[in-house]
Amino acid sequence: MNKAYILSLDQGTTSSRAIIYDHEGKAQAIAQKEYQQFFPKPAWVEHDPMEIWSSQMAVATEVIAKMGIKAKSIAALGITNQRETVVLWNRKTGKPIYKAIVWQDRRTAHHCKSLMDAGYASAIKQKTGLEIDPYFSATKIKWILDEVKEARALANKGHLAFGTIDSWLVWNLTSGKKHWTDVTNASRTMLFNINTLEWDDELLDLFDIPKSILPEVGSNSELVGHTSNQTLKASIPIAGVAGDQQAALFGQMCVEKGMVKNTYGTGCFLMMNTGGKVVQSQHKLLSTIAWQLGEKTTYALEGSVFTGGAVVQWLRDGLQLIKHASDSEALARSVSDNGGLYFIPAFTGLGAPHWKPEARAMIYGLSRGTTHAHIARAALESIAYQSYDVIKAMEQDTHVRIDHLKVDGGASANNFLMQFQSDVLQENVQRPAILETTSLGAAYFAGLTVGFWNDIHDIANQWTLEKEFKPETKKQVTEHLIKNWHQVIKKAF
Ligand code: ADP
Repeated sequence: MNKAYILSLDQGTTSSRAIIYDHEGKAQAIAQKEYQQFFPKPAWVEHDPMEIWSSQMAVATEVIAKMGIKAKSIAALGITNQRETVVLWNRKTGKPIYKAIVWQDRRTAHHCKSLMDAGYASAIKQKTGLEIDPYFSATKIKWILDEVKEARALANKGHLAFGTIDSWLVWNLTSGKKHWTDVTNASRTMLFNINTLEWDDELLDLFDIPKSILPEVGSNSELVGHTSNQTLKASIPIAGVAGDQQAALFGQMCVEKGMVKNTYGTGCFLMMNTGGKVVQSQHKLLSTIAWQLGEKTTYALEGSVFTGGAVVQWLRDGLQLIKHASDSEALARSVSDNGGLYFIPAFTGLGAPHWKPEARAMIYGLSRGTTHAHIARAALESIAYQSYDVIKAMEQDTHVRIDHLKVDGGASANNFLMQFQSDVLQENVQRPAILETTSLGAAYFAGLTVGFWNDIHDIANQWTLEKEFKPETKKQVTEHLIKNWHQVIKKAF
């Protein structure tokens, strides 16, 4: 095969990465570059779109050079990206009119509060599957339109373009030929109706956003365009695009209804495949599009835990209890139980299923016998309890019993945590050999389009288990722990 590789671009919140995959779905080379974070005011987070683009190009070029291959031996290019982050640019010059406002940015909290007070929550949830929150793109787009002087005038002339990061990359990769996004990224803007798969005119009116700035929307696995000669010096088909969590769900091959993955990174990102139907959550989970393949749309329920692995960072940097994140495992194992200690890591509030932005962190149950090992153990256990709460909410919303959990992300390397997760869930936890599920998912979407892989069956057997954790603690014991956790977490509200 002379076109033996897929190039996957993974544009994350702190770094841009490029990975080359072979036909077996093995990563052959990786390049990564961190880029600058801007915090101009408290709770504001911005990126420079030009740096996002240049860092992404730099790693793409680097990874191709590392492999010692020609760009033309790449069968297709896939893109996955940080979701919700917005860029507005001038179509004539290709230059952004403001920095990218990042998903973490809370500057539009007031606006969101006024929308909630005005009673829009349930209509917005019904159309978009989302809770009203600054997290999503709509209020950020409106902020730029209102605050940047020339924005509305440019929009009136049809010269303004909006995009999430995938659109921004596609625009640049095609040298401005394509203004395009995929359904998963669109579904995070709060402007897209996930039932009809169209931009929603009523929401555009509500947010005062002109339709002319929006990209065309397509599926996750289709020929979007080709890289231009000015970019990768070859015409590579751009053939698969998806938001990061959706790409990870696909990379984990959670392709059947009821399958769930949890990514244990800074936060924990849980997603459940709910099949061909939108499930409206009764537990403040988000309903979202998992992917669209051909005419077939698959939906998902999503719940994000704000502080996951970050609690381990705090043990390391804040408390200086450990030197490396991985040291938390041996420290937690050095005691036989939590000693009655519960750690609610609500440093930045609590995410799903609680949505309590004003909650604050606490350690509860300190006694004279408490040691640093108990604190480390309670911290790791808190990651599992929070994930448990989201999974139970998913089960209640779907009436589907989750019988195993697929895991990835940095903290999934922690065997104590994975075992404890299996114990509290009383279900098996499966850690795959390949933890690069996000970029792999994008590679799969791209490869399917160009016939690099024929169909899902062709790739499903590439998912291989590295380690499976089975419940080892009796249900009565863990039920007692979970009951205590729920009593304590309420105190943090
Ligand atoms: P992100 O993509 O959000 O930056 P990663 O998937 O790279 O996150 O995971 C990094 C997070 O995982 C950090 O918060 C770190 O504290 C935590 N982490 C990494 N290794 C371990 C470990 N062995 N045990 C517990 N936590 C870990």
